[in-house]
This record gives sequence, structure tokens and C-alpha cells, in this order.
Amino acid sequence: MNTRFERICRPAQGLCLLLLMAVATPSSAQLRILACETEWGQLATEIGGDLVQVKNASAPGQDAHHIQARPSLLAQVRRADMVLCTGAELETGWLPVLLNRGSNPAVRQAPGLFLAAEQVDRLEIPVTLDRADGDVHAMGNPHVHLDPHRVITISRQLAERFAQLDPDNADAYRQQQQAWQTAFEAQISDWEAQAASLKGLNVITYHRTWSYLLDWLGMNRVDELEPKPGLPPTPGHLATLVRKADEQQVGLILYRPINGDDAASWLAKRTAACAVELPFSPGEEGTNTLASLYSTVIQRLSTAREQCLQETT
Ligand SMILES: [Zn+2]
Repeated sequence: MNTRFERICRPAQGLCLLLLMAVATPSSAQLRILACETEWGQLATEIGGDLVQVKNASAPGQDAHHIQARPSLLAQVRRADMVLCTGAELETGWLPVLLNRGSNPAVRQAPGLFLAAEQVDRLEIPVTLDRADGDVHAMGNPHVHLDPHRVITISRQLAERFAQLDPDNADAYRQQQQAWQTAFEAQISDWEAQAASLKGLNVITYHRTWSYLLDWLGMNRVDELEPKPGLPPTPGHLATLVRKADEQQVGLILYRPINGDDAASWLAKRTAACAVELPFSPGEEGTNTLASLYSTVIQRLSTAREQCLQETT
């Protein structure tokens, strides 16, 4: 764009400068978004299209409970028009530091700060809070992105927030969200059909990261490999899980690559359940879009369930 433009206006340098500024406006008008996790970075890209420029604060598959507020992130906060995170205290250990040190008052609160999990109802809101219970999320389970219905609600709110921050393109954000939602809704029915055989299945998960997926697909969480949220599995806790898994006919043990497979494999060897490693965020193992993340997760669960049934019969 600039090269062609320079050739056109080289004879009149003064006019050229003026025109150059006008021409440069569309790209510099992009909303600069810093997403705490790739699921929200991906949603922003899918809704905002060319109107947004997205950077992620964490890598795909990284543990969003623990991210370093490193200098390069502070620089990105400073430049951002929006910081887009899960909220509901998921990033409580690092996001406040980042926002305080980022010297950008616009993103410390709404509209520049958008917290996805706080746009929807959350599961597992604790009745009482006791530090002895481990790293409990006081505002309920923040890991909402594996429920596509909640993601649709979030996408609508996000498009409205984009419209608020960039009113010139308000119609475009709404239209893009609508088109995205129509395509996404069609896929939800496919996923639900593919996952029909998983309904009612009892599972054990590493952390309570899968609660929304299980709730959506009608699967039941019997327990976690973590003895308490945020604490690694212990021999004593695993021993109680062997009994529980048999009593409650647990079919699968779900974990993420960052959890490692030690505890899940250990339990799988001693019970009729099978361990299955699942991607959690877009960008992990070829799951480039939110849709491909859901497809992969459901395909892995279904395949693991089938293989497990064959092995145990
Ligand atoms: Zn958590």
C-alpha cells in the first residue's frame, strides 16, 4: 500500500505526508488486544477479523494460573486497547501485577478490560472459603471456554465491547459475530451428536479444568487427581481414587499435557479406567481454532472410550 502511494505522490511531498496519514489510518485503527489465554485470543480473532490485532500473554497449553509478568508483557499492556482475560480470579496471581505495572489506565477496568468468565454463570461457586482447601477459585470455576454455549454468550458481549471501543466499526463487529455464531451453532449439534455415547460416563480429572465440558456433554466428575485444587497428586490420595474408580465405574481419566501422565497412568493401570490426554486451549496440537479444539477433544474422548471398552471386555 505504502509503496504504491509513494510513487503516486512523490512530486508533491507536503500533500504526500497528509495523504500518507489518511491512508495509514485503517491499520493503526485496529484494536490492539492482549489476551491472557489463547482461547480468548482466538475468539477475538474469530469475531474481530482484520479489525483487531491480537497478542497472547501465554503460550498454548501453558498453565494460566501461573504466568510471569515479564517486561515484554508490560510493554504489550502499555500498547493495548483491550486486555482480554478469563477473570473470575483465574489470573489472580499475575494479572493485577501486570495491570498495575503496565501504566495504561484504559485497560485496568471496563471497557478496556474484558473478563470472559464473568460474562456467564459459573459452576462450583464455593459456599465457604478456606485456604486449607487449596487454591480454590472464590468466584466459581473460571475454566468456562470448553462449554460452547457459554462461549457464544461471551462472543456477543465481546462484539459489543469491540463496538464500544471502536464505534466506527460497530456494525462490522456485530455482523462478524453473527456470522461466526451461525456457523458455530451448526457445529455444536454435530459435536453433541458425536459425544452422545459419552453421556453418563463417570470420569476423574486432573484439575477441575474440565467441569464445563463435562457439564455440557452430560458426563460426571467423580473426583480429581489433585487432592486439593492446585496441589499435586499424593500417594495417599491416589490410593483412595483406586477404590473410588472401581466403586463408581470410572471410564476415563482426563489430563492435560502440562499435568504430565504419571498420576493418570498410575491410576489407569490399577483400575478399569483409561487415561486420555486432551488439548485444552487453541494452538495445542493442531487445534488452531476454537471449533477444531472441540472436535479434537470429543474425538479423543470417544476414541479413548471405545478402545478402553475393547481392552476391558
Ligand atoms: Zn483452576
